[in-house]
Amino acid sequence: MLPYATLDEAAAALGRNLTVAETLWFNYSAKKSDYYLYCHNILFLFLIFSVVPLPVVFISLWRSSGFDKYKIQPKVKLSPSETFKCYKDVMFMFFFVVGPLQLVSYPSVKLIGIRTSLPLPSGWEVFLQLVVYFMVEDFTNYWIHRFLHGKWGYEKIHKVHHEYTAPIGFAAPYAHWAEVLILGIPSFLGPAMVPGHMITFWLWIALRQIEAIETHSGYDFPWTPTKYIPFYGGADYHDYHHYVGGQSQSNFASVFTYCDFIYGTDKGYRFQKKLLWKLKKGVENGVEQNGGSYYVPTQDLKSD
Ligand SMILES: [Zn+2]
Ligand SMILES: [Zn+2]
Repeated sequence: MLPYATLDEAAAALGRNLTVAETLWFNYSAKKSDYYLYCHNILFLFLIFSVVPLPVVFISLWRSSGFDKYKIQPKVKLSPSETFKCYKDVMFMFFFVVGPLQLVSYPSVKLIGIRTSLPLPSGWEVFLQLVVYFMVEDFTNYWIHRFLHGKWGYEKIHKVHHEYTAPIGFAAPYAHWAEVLILGIPSFLGPAMVPGHMITFWLWIALRQIEAIETHSGYDFPWTPTKYIPFYGGADYHDYHHYVGGQSQSNFASVFTYCDFIYGTDKGYRFQKKLLWKLKKGVENGVEQNGGSYYVPTQDLKSD
């Protein structure tokens, strides 16, 4: 809710005319409560969970040979009913955990100072805040995820997320309800440290989920724009973590690769990459490949 009745009042308070984006924001938000604006996240998340995975899911169901070469684990094929079951389970969690969590977490959003007011932040401010949010989330998520791979954490909680050893986009938010709640903390820490505008917060929640869907897509497309982000993990990186499963001591980070590099938890993955490269070289020299599987079925390297 904005404290101005008209655009002229808002312009007088700002001491300048409103930009086009600010006028749009005024027209949309002036009479809506901050709580209602915050709850837009529920609709955004519903749309992202339902729509963003669809293109790659269709590609995967149709098994187009043109795209098959980009599938990370080409031998694993989920049927339409298995794919739909994953979506149904995610929606169950969405309506009973994710949605209610959004509804009740508003006081903390208010407390940390997420604002809906004018002026709107500049593009640079939004960009830099998003960078901070991604970095903070990546670091905290890394340690929580690593903890969840301990005996207790894995058996009681994290095992659910690893039911998909070859993940699909719908499986990105597929997890135990406790994991959904716990991983809300890393998502919230960045905005708590550097609070921004509600629009930045919406963008953060949306981009983080879109990124998670991409890394769970099961496909490593060479043309994906995220390939240009420095230290970005991507689908191949996280897919390996799912492939190894509960035993995995590799690739814990959610977005970037630097945490796994610094703490030495990317050794299994690097070893596999090297082995795969040698195998490809072998194929070029006439040696038969490993049954068409992207990964080589050796034990993941324990790093600690
Ligand atoms: Zn895991
Ligand atoms: Zn995952």
